[in-house]
Amino acid sequence: MSEHTFADWRALSEGLQPEGRAFIRGRYCEAASGARFATLNPANGLPLALVASCDEQDAELAVGHARAAFRRGDWSALAPAGRKAVLLRLAGLMERHAEELALLDSLDMGKPISNSLNVDLPAAVRCLRWNAEAIDKVYGEVAPTGPDSLGLVTREPLGVVAALVPWNFPLMMACWKIAPALAAGNAVILKPSEKSPLSAIRLAALAREAGLPDGILQVLPGYGHTVGKALALHPEVDALAFTGSTRVGKLLTRYAGESNLKRTFMECGGKSANIVFADAGDLDRVAREAAQAIFYNQGEVCIAGSRLLVENTIKEELVERILHHARAWQPGHPLDPQSPMGAIVDAAQLDGICGHVHKALAQGARLRLGGEPVLTDGGGCYFPPTVFDQVHNGMALAREEVFGPVLAVIGFDGADEAVAIANDSPYGLAAAVWTQNLDLALTTARRLESGQVFVNNYAGGDMTVPFGGVKQSGNGRDKSLHSLAEYSQLKTTWIALSAG
Ligand code: NAD
Repeated sequence: MSEHTFADWRALSEGLQPEGRAFIRGRYCEAASGARFATLNPANGLPLALVASCDEQDAELAVGHARAAFRRGDWSALAPAGRKAVLLRLAGLMERHAEELALLDSLDMGKPISNSLNVDLPAAVRCLRWNAEAIDKVYGEVAPTGPDSLGLVTREPLGVVAALVPWNFPLMMACWKIAPALAAGNAVILKPSEKSPLSAIRLAALAREAGLPDGILQVLPGYGHTVGKALALHPEVDALAFTGSTRVGKLLTRYAGESNLKRTFMECGGKSANIVFADAGDLDRVAREAAQAIFYNQGEVCIAGSRLLVENTIKEELVERILHHARAWQPGHPLDPQSPMGAIVDAAQLDGICGHVHKALAQGARLRLGGEPVLTDGGGCYFPPTVFDQVHNGMALAREEVFGPVLAVIGFDGADEAVAIANDSPYGLAAAVWTQNLDLALTTARRLESGQVFVNNYAGGDMTVPFGGVKQSGNGRDKSLHSLAEYSQLKTTWIALSAG
């Protein structure tokens, strides 16, 4: 926990000179074309840094270095305990530079500094440590063969992994990918979002300081349609680890098929149902957590509880309580430790949120709170907590991901209707069930088409459980040993024994 005030964080941010260059083969460098773009601070619209705009040429260079580094074997063939030691050092360095890394994320994409410092940064560090600690405890198998043979099943790294990540949890999402990929022995090329490249660029230097060999972690900032696409189509990239929108996830899956059939692990969008039954118990607690489920991180959360399904007998009471808690989520400056919400990532995202609100009004949803940008004077992008009720599941607001602080309330009668509404979605990332009836909780959880179901909580979980979706929310899993397993492939070695 930091004791810094708003003024302290402002002063610290003024002293920052963010690095904007790419990191290729252990060195910072400009893009081969020399092109750069400005990354803007969504709190005031002003440029923070000029960033290398990498393209196909840089992808070509970085993939070549990654392949060479992988083949060299000073990482891929290093004993797991050796990789563990380097990654633990990196985790320690991240903690030493926690304030700087947290500031970079808050400045770059607008999340409250209290979240980037106390939630994202520790989660990123924990992910590195967890995977580092796990890698020297993973065994191969000996197959149950007859006496005339020995069948070995071993795990090998995939080779070159491109990690393409979004802007909503820049450092944490990057670490959810690079930690298991590096622990498993791969060479990784990290492509941060063009909206939030700064923490990933800084992380590269820390990884080098921790002892990661050159070429094993490279960072290519730039746009998705240039450098991202080039990596996705590259025949020497063995796997794409992606977190982002379903639209881009579909493109990447196509690029993989058009090129070398590289593995693709997709973590995509969501429209998650937060289901509250009439016997949920303490409705004030449910309301407080339902508000947090949609307003945390400005609603820019893939598992945001954006569809609140409420049993009709308690609907009005719960909505009133949610409105009460929602009012506490007014956005403020991202560097103010008291701000519960910060700024929306950029003007395009803000316009998108406004578009969803206008469509919801046109389709007959009832606006109960918010609905218009706020704090517009200082050039920042801010949107208040917004609640619609009288939404039905056919409306765009119930079907499309807003990725902003906008809640859609939908009434239901009984478990069958709740499950039918929840599952009537192209997405399947998360869902929650609130009830005091254990049988109802568990039978409903079973019926929900969702990668994860929270019972009497929202967004619970830690490194021990996998995180990912079904349907068009994707097919990959972050966290847990299941994620570590994605970054390796099985090899069978069959040995004939003459003494059988
Ligand atoms: P996005 O899909 O626009 O971008 C994600 C990444 O892909 C960025 O690095 C981007 O530059 C890159 N990209 C874009 N077009 C590309 C192309 N043609 N080829 C290669 N790369 C390309 O997503 P975003 O706006 O950064 O993030 C928001 C989305 O991420 C939301 O849909 C959200 O639900 C999703 N998300 C999912 C999870 C999860 O775990 N399932 C977690 C966080 C965010």
